[in-house]
Amino acid sequence: MRVLEAKKVSERPLQLAPDQAPGWHSLEADAVLARLQVSAKEGLSEEEVARRQQQVGLNRMTPKQQQSALVMFLLQFHQPLIYILLAATVVTIFLQEYTDAIVIFAVVFINAIIGYVQESKALTAINALAQRMTARAQVIRDGRRHEIEALQLVPGDVVLVQSGNKFPADVRLVKVRDLQVDESALTGESVAVEKSTVAVPADNVLGDRLCLGFASTSVTYGQATGVVVATGDQTEVGKIQQSIAGAEDLETPLTLKIKEFSQLLLWVILGLCVVVFVVGILRGESKADTFMIVVALAVGAIPEGLPVAVTIMLALGVSKMAARRAIIRKLVAVETLGSTSVICSDKTGTLTENQMTVQRIAAGGQMYQVEGLGYRPEGQIRCGQEVADLTSNRALQLCLHAGLLCNDSAVKEKEGKWIVEGDPTEGALLVAAGKAGFQRTQLEEAYPRLDTIPFESHYQYMATLHGGVRAVIYLKGSVEAVLERCAKSMQANGDLAPLDKAVIMHQVETMANEGMRVLAFATADAPATLAAISHDYTSRDLVFLGLQAMIDPPRQEAIEAVRLCQAAGIDVKMITGDHAATAAAIAGEIGLKGRQHNGKLVALTGKELQQIDDKTLEEVAETTSVFARVSPDQKLRLVKALQARDRVVAMTGDGVNDAPALKQANIGIAMGITGTDVAKDAADMVLTDDNFSSIEGAVEEGRGVFDNLTKFIVWTLPTNLGEGLTILAAIAFGTQLPVQPIHILWINMTTAVLLGLTLAFEPREPGIMDRPPRPASEPILTRDLIMRTLLVGVLMLVATFGLYLYERRYQGASLAEAQTMATTVLIVLEAFYLLSCRSLVRPTQEVGYFSNMWVYYGIAAMLALQAAFIYVPFMNTLFSSAPLNAPQLLRILGAGLVLWLIVSVEKHLRFRSLVRSARQPRTLPAVG
Ligand code: ADP
Ligand code: MG
Repeated sequence: MRVLEAKKVSERPLQLAPDQAPGWHSLEADAVLARLQVSAKEGLSEEEVARRQQQVGLNRMTPKQQQSALVMFLLQFHQPLIYILLAATVVTIFLQEYTDAIVIFAVVFINAIIGYVQESKALTAINALAQRMTARAQVIRDGRRHEIEALQLVPGDVVLVQSGNKFPADVRLVKVRDLQVDESALTGESVAVEKSTVAVPADNVLGDRLCLGFASTSVTYGQATGVVVATGDQTEVGKIQQSIAGAEDLETPLTLKIKEFSQLLLWVILGLCVVVFVVGILRGESKADTFMIVVALAVGAIPEGLPVAVTIMLALGVSKMAARRAIIRKLVAVETLGSTSVICSDKTGTLTENQMTVQRIAAGGQMYQVEGLGYRPEGQIRCGQEVADLTSNRALQLCLHAGLLCNDSAVKEKEGKWIVEGDPTEGALLVAAGKAGFQRTQLEEAYPRLDTIPFESHYQYMATLHGGVRAVIYLKGSVEAVLERCAKSMQANGDLAPLDKAVIMHQVETMANEGMRVLAFATADAPATLAAISHDYTSRDLVFLGLQAMIDPPRQEAIEAVRLCQAAGIDVKMITGDHAATAAAIAGEIGLKGRQHNGKLVALTGKELQQIDDKTLEEVAETTSVFARVSPDQKLRLVKALQARDRVVAMTGDGVNDAPALKQANIGIAMGITGTDVAKDAADMVLTDDNFSSIEGAVEEGRGVFDNLTKFIVWTLPTNLGEGLTILAAIAFGTQLPVQPIHILWINMTTAVLLGLTLAFEPREPGIMDRPPRPASEPILTRDLIMRTLLVGVLMLVATFGLYLYERRYQGASLAEAQTMATTVLIVLEAFYLLSCRSLVRPTQEVGYFSNMWVYYGIAAMLALQAAFIYVPFMNTLFSSAPLNAPQLLRILGAGLVLWLIVSVEKHLRFRSLVRSARQPRTLPAVG
């Protein structure tokens, strides 16, 4: 039958391409539906969808290359240091030093290639992660509601959106309820637009096409049904080619700091170069020779690999975090996570399982226990010892009906397991009704739903209007929200009595104190002609039906993660829309620490929060760990209050209204499963499993990445210092250069990649979560580490220059031999120093000799390459190097060992006390 219908439809030519269509906004909704040959109630059939998909393709935009590969490659040359090297190339050509010119240019070129490859790798990795979060859409097809990937939408699909969603395609609105849309992504207008279904004049500009919803704009309020009129590249965003994904920014405060640092260094070095050049000329040396010295100095002293390395290491952090279910949306988050000092987390689903089971029902003056756990609808409802007799309690019946009918979720059996599709809170209510023998399908037939006010955190309730013999409204929500709207309560025999709030609140308190989430239910008769409801209809005079209380056990892994955070000096706070007593009870079970009263955690409620001014809030936010019945806008105040005291705040959120708080927080964390598109957009990080322990994991990784970055910096700077000093020493002593510019380039290029980057794979140090967070304002290099850098730089100078002189003066070595010697010394010293840098404070035996094999692979590769530099004739020609003999090699090895020993002793003397106390949590200052 349906197949036939679909055939009939497809015989008529369809106008799916918008350029042939008269602006959809100027047509009435019915006309649009007719043109697209679809009914708003039934939607398309799957066959028709398949056919249309063939015609127009999938609903996705052809990705716009943000930056062409060529531009990205050329940008690699756009660095001050590279300018210098390019200039050096040109001058060496004029000086007819062609080999040098070629080598210098080759180095610049290779550097650009490495930079380009790494940068595009980092970008692809981040973009791939972003794409893993595929957009979903609610559609009506074959008369039923489905959730599908937004990718699968075709023109004519009937879609449903509500606050928090993005429009998955361009849509002609068919039905709206208080729909407000943020169209800033498209029009730049930041004030939300109120939409309607009325057609507008054809010449209205985008911002005034009020009956259309545009792809990538987000619903901030209300809900709507619409029919898709354009998908993919045909949508308005697609047309203006403004890819919404946007290029990820690879810049972070740290990379900026390092850029600034290199810039500063560059000027210092350039100044030094000028001085050296002038002195050389005054001494009567040739311009050409002096120039080569200057080039060597510049090339040696500048840490050119640093900026790229930092980006690479941060990008590596991104993939480490992804493995722990935290998807980083902004590179800066990797860095900030390491210094997070407060985590404000949701309760439901993040700290708890979000596995709801109704265990108590209070209705008609009776208290019932519900058997069973989970979503399997098996178990009895008992009253004391007896199985409850439903027929004797009208209030209980209706309370269960309300839970079943005022409900947008479903429970299903899948591979032997019962699961919820939708909100677990609602799933629990379905199961409770099921245990009493009520079925959704039967009840919905008798009382078909006419209209809905969906649940929103702000209102804390949901209501539905049902037809049938006479119209009736059912409502469920938080106890406060429901009681406020009730005047009477229903008794067991169905009669109404005045509402006794005190009795009900007492029942709620007892259940909430056990950590249960309590929902209240109410009903009202409605005029038979009523077809739609608004908040006005449900504001008062409802009849209270009863309470259902459900447990939601804490996540075991969250308990452990909270403990780890506390040991790491990170405060964990719970921010929830739930009842204060429920929140405090669960927070206690999870082990949160904070202000207590009578042995119980004190919960600050949203109402109380409203009464406090910002200054007082700063104090209260510090000491309180549970915030209950908090509305999303109050989260923003909390973040600000904590930040006012220099705290680095991570804050979770899932709703539309959470977006401002997520943006304000240092790390905004959105929920991958329950989160809305808007929240994900605003976040720096998305949890794929909504689990608190993933936040802890990301913090741990963040600290590890920062440690490794510091190690890299501490490893790389002494080399540049040593090289620079060696050149200066040569000038001071009036000797020839121990290392030529091309030698220095060789060293810097090969060691940065083969040696330095292996530090990125260094595992997290033991006790990484036993030390307090690193203050964000702390410089990367502490005084101790600066001293280390100076020490090693000087040691490198002594070894390089010393051995060079020794070979020349006492061993009769040729210049080529001595220079090869000096180059090799620098490389071997770097390799030994690398071993030491695996931990900046711990001796290697504590780190574990073999915990990072990459270091050894890197060293082996480096030595092989250096052997080629020393012994391969071609390399000898290219680099003016010469073969070394065994005693020479032994002297180099000796220098390496001495350096390693000295640094080990220095490490021991300087950090001994810290390492010992690291075993007692909390006392190790953040080193790096
Ligand atoms: P949480 O921080 O625990 O996720 P919410 O803002 O989601 O809090 O919920 C706040 C309160 O609203 C809950 O304590 C409950 O009483 C009520 N509530 C939650 N979900 C629903 C729903 N689907 N329908 C009606 N009321 C709900
Ligand atoms: Mg919730």
